[in-house]
Amino acid sequence: MHIALLSRNRTLYSTRRLMEAAEERGHSVRVVDTLRCYMNIASHRPSIHYKGEEIEHFDAIIPRIGASITFYGCAVLRQFEMMGTHVLNDNVSITRSRDKLRSLQLLSRKGIGLPVTGFAHSPDDIPDLIKMVKGAPLVIKLLEGTQGIGVVLAETNQAAESVIQAFMGMKANIMVQEYIKEAKGADIRCLVVGDKVVASMKRQALEGEFRSNLHRGGNASVIRITPEERSTAIRAAKAMGLRVAGVDLLRSNHGPVIMEVNSSPGLHGIEAATGKDIAGLIIEHLQKSATPTRKAPPKPKG
Ligand code: ADP
Ligand code: MG
Repeated sequence: MHIALLSRNRTLYSTRRLMEAAEERGHSVRVVDTLRCYMNIASHRPSIHYKGEEIEHFDAIIPRIGASITFYGCAVLRQFEMMGTHVLNDNVSITRSRDKLRSLQLLSRKGIGLPVTGFAHSPDDIPDLIKMVKGAPLVIKLLEGTQGIGVVLAETNQAAESVIQAFMGMKANIMVQEYIKEAKGADIRCLVVGDKVVASMKRQALEGEFRSNLHRGGNASVIRITPEERSTAIRAAKAMGLRVAGVDLLRSNHGPVIMEVNSSPGLHGIEAATGKDIAGLIIEHLQKSATPTRKAPPKPKG
């Protein structure tokens, strides 16, 4: 196959690994800088131009769209979809996953375990919102934050109230969530490829920190997940429409609860922790999903 890797930087670990894995399996890969793709959307024949020329035909696209360019990146990916190109994760699923509130609403509809979570607009409703999510300690988070930035723990109702007021005053969209204390600063990243969890790791926050993000100094180790955690992760990826996803969950007293579903999971931490060739598994999945299997001819009757 001729594969395009939509990525801004070919030196990133995940981009490099996906390239290597594809080439090892006999595919050709071109890293395409998402922000240098442009298009005439009203044309009868949808196409994409790249650095002055019409871009060649690809059999499949692997989108690695950073959170800061979600809007433009998803528009480019949508154009590829309109051209009939096979994509690993589609633009709608990626857009869903980038909005934590939208994601949790979709997961909730499927009956997937979540921390009690609230959302409000008016500062007048803050006291009741806090009551609704069972009071402090509470986690307050920006709907579009990443890497643990914009996730705050408020230990008292007064602290929660002033932090929420401050965010609302800045017109920042936030949600308020029950604090899962029993997770003890750890979360579990499940890497879903197709309908399987192919790897999982535990991330433990630094001493005195509750956010387990590796970017916040958390450390990763291999963990065996329970069948319930496995099926929760698979169902979560499916509810979002993602073929490849990093599903983060916490171990709560009432079973696994989803933190978020990532559409471009980083491969560095999980490959280092588990020693698995995740990039290879992703390429093999892409290979299978991009080449439609012919239906077996109907069995002759009688
Ligand atoms: P980000 O997108 O910035 O990673 P998350 O929602 O994943 O935001 O939160 C970052 C980390 O903070 C989580 O991985 C988890 O360790 C911790 N955390 C977030 N929400 C809660 C919560 N409700 N209870 C306990 N820990 C939480
Ligand atoms: Mg996270």
